[in-house]
This record gives sequence, structure tokens and C-alpha cells, in this order.
Amino acid sequence: MFGSKRIKALSFLGFHFNSHLLKKLIPFNRRGLQHFKKDYRNDKIFSIAKNDREQMPSFSQCYTCKICDTYCPQGNPSYLVQTFSRSLTDFDLLTPQESCGGCDLCEKHCPQHVPIKKIVQFMIKYKSDFQ
Ligand code: SF4
Ligand code: SF4
Repeated sequence: MFGSKRIKALSFLGFHFNSHLLKKLIPFNRRGLQHFKKDYRNDKIFSIAKNDREQMPSFSQCYTCKICDTYCPQGNPSYLVQTFSRSLTDFDLLTPQESCGGCDLCEKHCPQHVPIKKIVQFMIKYKSDFQ
């Protein structure tokens, strides 16, 4: 015989199992992401898309030779690139180099093959999240 506690526990499990299935099947509004952004904004933590996260290890190969700066006609890309060796929470101190014309000179001469243009694009894309 099932005791009342057991029935209660099974009902509870059944309810949560079914609601979990429903959430998987029905594309509810992703309020969780909005809450995440709001809750962590003061800590300067922001959400990064999966494909961007996957690229990030290649962003941190810079060893600060600054050769890219001597070739860039628009500014000092090493300033942005070096940030990826630091904490993400330092991003708010930066101004993305939006004037990058994509000439490729920096990447062609970087001895570490750092994807500098992708880093510039990353900074522009997430600017509003960390400033
Ligand atoms: S050339 Fe490459 S390794 Fe040197 S500072 Fe620029 S990004 Fe870093
Ligand atoms: S691609 Fe952009 S960052 Fe690199 S040298 Fe050209 S303008 Fe500068």
C-alpha cells in the first residue's frame, strides 16, 4: 500500500518531470537569459554566445610584442588584444576600435597568429553588454 507521503512524493516528481518535458518541447520565452543579464550586470559579467566562447582561447595568444601596432593605420590593436589575457570584467575600461577597416596588416605580421580582426569584432558586438 502507498502511504500518503509516498503519493505526495510521486506526484511531486511526476509534476516536475512533465513540466521539464513541456519546457523542452515548447519554446517558452527565454526569460532566464534576461534575468541573468540583469542580475550580473553590476558585476560586469555578461553572456557570450557559444560560438564566440569557442573562439576565445585563440584570442589570448598575444605576447605583447606590439608589432601589430606598427602596421595598423587606425590605432593600436594590441591594446584590445592584450585585454583577453585579463579578466572579462576589465572590458568596461576599453573603447572598441570601431575604425578597423579590416586591412589584415596586423594579422599578417603577428608572430602569434592572433585573430585580431575577430577580437575587434567581438568587442564591437558585446560593447553594450560591458560598458
Ligand atoms: S603582433 Fe600579435 S603577439 Fe604581437 S602584440 Fe600584436 S597581437 Fe600580440
Ligand atoms: S585589420 Fe583593423 S586592426 Fe588590423 S591593421 Fe587593419 S585596421 Fe588595424
